[in-house]
Amino acid sequence: MAIFIFILGTILGSFYLVIATRLPLNEDVLLSRSHCDKCLHQLKWYNLIPLLSYLFQLGKCPYCHKEISLIHFITELITGLSFLVLYLLYGISYEFFMGLIIVSLVIIIFISDFKYMVILDSPLIVFAILSFIVKVVYLKIETALYGILCGVALFCVMLLIEQLGKIIFKREALGGGDIKFGFLIGLILEFRLGLIAIILSTFLALPYSVASLYIIKKDEVPYGPFLAGALLIVFLTSSKFLALFNFLFRI
Ligand SMILES: [Zn+2]
Repeated sequence: MAIFIFILGTILGSFYLVIATRLPLNEDVLLSRSHCDKCLHQLKWYNLIPLLSYLFQLGKCPYCHKEISLIHFITELITGLSFLVLYLLYGISYEFFMGLIIVSLVIIIFISDFKYMVILDSPLIVFAILSFIVKVVYLKIETALYGILCGVALFCVMLLIEQLGKIIFKREALGGGDIKFGFLIGLILEFRLGLIAIILSTFLALPYSVASLYIIKKDEVPYGPFLAGALLIVFLTSSKFLALFNFLFRI
């Protein structure tokens, strides 16, 4: 089972890379055949085996012999390992499936937002539907519906931050993708933990923003990866936060 889940992760990781790098360019990702980025030669199934094809082809395209970016290998490996770790931590459970959804979001958003400064709508919609289904199956329909309510609330919080940013800094503080992502964070974590994730994300983004402003002299920073990272951290440590809430509300 563990091996199967690892392999599934590497296959999905390969697909996530395609989504995150081709969708922003309006390329069809479901119907078009996989091809080499350099020579556009169509790839055969045995050129597309996650991890192994890259290793056996020594990181080069089998047709034009130009180098294939290491990001392919890294994305497949990280997704596979993350899936495996979630299985070893939680077994087949609510936490496992929700963890898979969060890890998938983290990987897609990391790549698309750092590369193109965009958070794609379609993965957000697909994973919102999947998290709703997981909540209905493992928890209760009421909990899933409450999640949607929390999603709307956090969407409004993000909208408020964006509007305040516009008034105070006279410029766009958040992208539309970040605000929509706020809905998903609320749906998955519910309101209190979702709010903590948003606060945590600002702390995570701060060192990078300062560094990119003063070192690379770039004043536009992708915020999605930090939101996604905070979502993952709060999800993995949620029991600690919930215990803290209970403690605080008792005193
Ligand atoms: Zn090629």
